[in-house]
Amino acid sequence: MGVTGLLGGSFDPIHNGHLQLARDALKQLTLDELRFIPAAQPWQKDSLHAPAEHRAQMVQLAIADEPRCTLDMHEIERGGVTYTIDTLRALRSSLPRRALVLIMGSDQFARLDTWRDWKENLRTVHIAVAQRARNALIPGLNLQTVLDNHRCDAAGLALQPGGNVVEFAMTPVDVSATEVRGLLRLTQSGKQADRLSAMVPRPVLDYISKHHLYKE
Ligand code: ATP
Repeated sequence: MGVTGLLGGSFDPIHNGHLQLARDALKQLTLDELRFIPAAQPWQKDSLHAPAEHRAQMVQLAIADEPRCTLDMHEIERGGVTYTIDTLRALRSSLPRRALVLIMGSDQFARLDTWRDWKENLRTVHIAVAQRARNALIPGLNLQTVLDNHRCDAAGLALQPGGNVVEFAMTPVDVSATEVRGLLRLTQSGKQADRLSAMVPRPVLDYISKHHLYKE
C-alpha cells in the first residue's frame, strides 16, 4: 500500500522552508505523492495577506519542478474558515483504505491539542512531525501521551490507513512567511534582496512583484 503526504498551510507565501519540509518528508517517509493544501482561512489566524487564488498560484509555481508534488484546491474550493478535520474527513471518504499522513512542523504539533476534534485528526490519518529550526518540539502532556502511545517509524505508515505518529529530521531552513512578508514590505537594499532570494523560489518572487503582493 502506498502512502500519500498532506501538507496544509497558509502558504502566504510559500517559501523554501515548506519546500525543504516536503522534500525531506517525501524521502524519509517514502511517500508516493505529496499534496500541498493551501487553507482558505485558517481558524488560528486573523486574516491572511494574499488572496487564496494568488497563494495557490504561488504554490503551483514553486512545485512545478518538484517530483511527486501536487496542488490540492480542496480547502480553497470549500471556502470559509478552514478546519483541518473537515479536509481529512473528505479525503478519507474518497480514499477509504489509503495510508494518509499529515505533515507538520514541530511548532504545529505542539499545538495540535487545540485543533477542532484533534483526536479524530489522529484517528483519521497518520501525523508526521518534522523538527523545525528555532521551534524545538516541546509537546504538552496530551501530546506526549500521543507520542508515547502512537509513535511508529516510517515503515509503519504503509501498514494501516492512519493512527500513528512518526517524527523525522529535516534539514533546517530558518525562514517563515512572516519574515518573508516583513522583508517584502520594505524598500529592499541589495542585502535584503539577497536574503529574499535565499528564502523564496525565484518564480514566486517574480509573481509577487508582478501582482504587487505584500506591499502593506
Ligand atoms: P507564518 O509565518 O505566516 O505563520 P509559516 O511560515 O509558519 O507562516 P505556514 O504556511 O503557516 O508557514 O506553515 C505550513 C506548515 O509548514 C506548518 O506545518 C509549519 O510548521 C511548516 N513550516 C513553515 N515554515 C517552516 C520551516 N522553515 N521549516 C519547517 N517547516 C516549516
